[in-house]
Amino acid sequence: MTVTSLRDGYVDMPTRRLRQPGNIVFGDNLPSQVPLIDGALRLSVNAFAIDDGDEITLIDTGASNAWHPTMGHLPKALREAKIAVDRVRTVAFTHTHLDHIHGLILADGGDGFPQLSRLLVPRLEIGMFREETRLERFHGRAQPFDPGQRLSAHIDTIATPGHEVGHTCFRLVSDGETLLIWGDIVHVPSLQFDHPEIAWEFDADQEQARTTRRQILTMATGNACYVAGAHLDSPGVGRVSCTETAFRFEPL
Ligand SMILES: [Zn+2]
Repeated sequence: MTVTSLRDGYVDMPTRRLRQPGNIVFGDNLPSQVPLIDGALRLSVNAFAIDDGDEITLIDTGASNAWHPTMGHLPKALREAKIAVDRVRTVAFTHTHLDHIHGLILADGGDGFPQLSRLLVPRLEIGMFREETRLERFHGRAQPFDPGQRLSAHIDTIATPGHEVGHTCFRLVSDGETLLIWGDIVHVPSLQFDHPEIAWEFDADQEQARTTRRQILTMATGNACYVAGAHLDSPGVGRVSCTETAFRFEPL
């Protein structure tokens, strides 16, 4: 199994997106460990390609030209990684927010993945997916999947609701090692490993997102476990360890 991290780009977000328990924003009390660029949080936007030697499963697809122009570089990243788009037969989404799904369609309107045969969307979000009119020609092709469902011999799925109602982690197990491709469990790595109680304005349910984050972080602290995050600093892959009070991320 080969997993490739693909950077779609980045998005700058105001610090008020971060929420303390009680939906409270930070003011002057934002911890100094959080790096800011022109006063903003810079989130990498990553997708991950899983190559089993036969075909490629892509987890998330970036934003294409549906949001800020700092994203939409997935096609370039695929070329750089020498991954032929014709080999991508399965696309699966961690959730249906626009920075994860719009890469199905190129900026020029063409199909991002002409040989796509399976388009997997969390069942609880299939309606949200079908609200995206830009993706209309994919509405009928989307197949709902349930947590626990297996995508292949090596890949299964774990329900991780909170950031969105159907948010899902993909778990790859191969050769005694595990990789959790965990979508939006963490948006601001400089803060949320240390303070998993800090949530994100766009979380559908902040309290549930907190609980899920702690569960998945705990699950990820095993020795042979790696994580890959959609918004961890590119390439967004590493290991999680426990500290006395919380967690620490060690980038690979
Ligand atoms: Zn996201």
